[in-house]
Amino acid sequence: MNGILKEWFKVLKTGWNLLTTKPITYNFPPDMPITEETRGRHILDIEKCRSCSLCSRVCPNQAIEMVERENPDPSAKKKTVKYPQIDFSKCCFCGLCVEACPTEALQMTNASIMVAPEKSQFLYPPEKLVEPPDLKHPEPAKIKNASSWARSRSLWIINYFTGCCFIEAVPWVGSGFDMERFGLIVARNPRMADVLLIGGYVTKKTVKRILRIYEQMPAPKFVIALGNCPMTGGTYWDSFNTINRIDDYIPVDIWIVGCPPRPEAIGFAIVSAINHIQNGYTGKEEKVGLKDRSKLVPYREEAKLKPGEVLVPFGPQHPASGNFNLKLVLNGEMVSRAKPEVGYLHRGFEKLMEYRTWYQNVMIIQRICVLDGASYEVGYVSAIEKIANIEIPKRAKYLRTIQLELSRIQSHLLNMGLIGGATGFHTMQMVSWGDREKILYLLDKLTGARIYHIYNTPGGVFRDLPDDFQEETFQTIKDMRKRMKEYDDLFIHNPTLQQRTVGLGKIPSKVAINYDITGPNLRASGINFDVRKNSPYAAYDELDFEIPTFEEGDAYHRILCRRLEIDQSLNIIEQALKKMPKGPVRTKFGSYRTSIPRGEAISFLESARGELAFHLVSNGSNKPQRAKVRGPTFDPILVLLPELVKGNYLADVPVIYWSLDNCPADHDR
Ligand code: SF4
Ligand code: SF4
Repeated sequence: MNGILKEWFKVLKTGWNLLTTKPITYNFPPDMPITEETRGRHILDIEKCRSCSLCSRVCPNQAIEMVERENPDPSAKKKTVKYPQIDFSKCCFCGLCVEACPTEALQMTNASIMVAPEKSQFLYPPEKLVEPPDLKHPEPAKIKNASSWARSRSLWIINYFTGCCFIEAVPWVGSGFDMERFGLIVARNPRMADVLLIGGYVTKKTVKRILRIYEQMPAPKFVIALGNCPMTGGTYWDSFNTINRIDDYIPVDIWIVGCPPRPEAIGFAIVSAINHIQNGYTGKEEKVGLKDRSKLVPYREEAKLKPGEVLVPFGPQHPASGNFNLKLVLNGEMVSRAKPEVGYLHRGFEKLMEYRTWYQNVMIIQRICVLDGASYEVGYVSAIEKIANIEIPKRAKYLRTIQLELSRIQSHLLNMGLIGGATGFHTMQMVSWGDREKILYLLDKLTGARIYHIYNTPGGVFRDLPDDFQEETFQTIKDMRKRMKEYDDLFIHNPTLQQRTVGLGKIPSKVAINYDITGPNLRASGINFDVRKNSPYAAYDELDFEIPTFEEGDAYHRILCRRLEIDQSLNIIEQALKKMPKGPVRTKFGSYRTSIPRGEAISFLESARGELAFHLVSNGSNKPQRAKVRGPTFDPILVLLPELVKGNYLADVPVIYWSLDNCPADHDR
């Protein structure tokens, strides 16, 4: 009886909490959590512009072209002058051009929503750049007929996480933006889908899969492309392995500018698609004929199978795989063997870094792993600081620590949602991805961007804390601590989750060491090692925190380890904000052409997924001679995962996979 009363009390308490707390879901539009600090569309003060072209020369994406205009001074000898023209279909909003501009003629606004059916609409000549941004809402809908109305209100979306832009489609699945209120649902099968979402850069290997999906979709079908990479190549315009124009292969109905585009921009594209379809729009003409396309589509792979075995690909277009494929050979429902298939996200990163200057690399480096880009920024600039012997101000060390820990929290919350999805526990996905929005909001406020912060530069960080950051962060820490107790009741102590994860995918400590496993995956196997404690960097040696460690080594304890690390990260951020000394945040490094003395250095740090190392070599020039990255996911995923899934049920594969917390972009680079 007592037990029943206890349960009833819990239900009533939860109901009361729901009734008395502010809903997590944004009332989109008009509610859009864009901060004042967000880096968005530029604005040009033409009177201040000296036509020096520094902005154009620093731009790593070649988004700025200097174009000739009549000289406004009729008495001047030169009849023409040059001003910047920006192609936003190439711009990744890194802000390096604004930093380089000596007269502050070029500034950034926080207008970050650019959505259009034609790419040419994103070209801003100087005359357009001087105008203040004006957010145009999608054309209103006219109901054409009952079938187009019905179709527009129940679009089934198939997404392919081709690249990093998918990360900003994630909030639409969680409670922050909640796509189901628009009648949108995720289609599990291309044959049932109306809309194909292309989530970022497309490699040569990925484009074949896109074509295969597109071919299977019934007409009328619509394509929305996220980010600049599918439009123009974006940040990877000079990569040997990415394609620069997806519309050479399939027609695209709506383009969204961004790197990655914000969730609000994706929302605008979706509302725009709904309105277009309601108006009777049935999609763009196909450009590539079926006959041509079939040459590009791969044939079914022949596998050597024993009688009774079947080959099942887990990925690369699977809601739980990321753009990665684990080829599973099944006997009944059990996995007999598995082989990872990589390369869908390979961009040739280490080579791309050799083509850009030391300084320009600060805007691409975080793109190695979209799930925790902050760690890559700090790792890269720390190695440069070692070679060039640059001591960074103490305040910058604290700011880096805050950025890194916020990034760890959002990454662990994302993983919790993925575990929720893998175990059929979608409530957890909705809740943790909704809470993740609060952390991304703080990162946006601190750095100017939610995902790719571009906050670090050799010598420190680009900016100090915004005015009300401290107050807002303390409030979020308080809210998150309360939430963590609810997570434990709802998720961690949940008997169904425990049944699905306790004892699953065990990694004994010896195996963890032999396979070079690091991070929470190592600590859940009984090894108390964390670079933040064992070899402190940033401000970690001045802060007090614990390292959650467990002996069991199974999926459950890897999940638990990440959950408890969130508590520790909240403690670290709180202490850092209180203890942070006053002073400068940056030692001036030089310009985008600055050279680094001859030498080499290794930096390493504790990223959300484990130990991350950079080995940089300088021959004394302004570009790295060699850049080597050692990411945390190579060993657990490409070496150990096939062993771990062997002998387990097919249904447990996504659970084991996400308990290791993969970032396919990290091992593919
Ligand atoms: S913000 Fe970055 S990518 Fe965009 S124009 Fe400026 S330098 Fe180029
Ligand atoms: S860097 Fe500034 S002053 Fe120089 S061309 Fe660009 S906008 Fe004009």
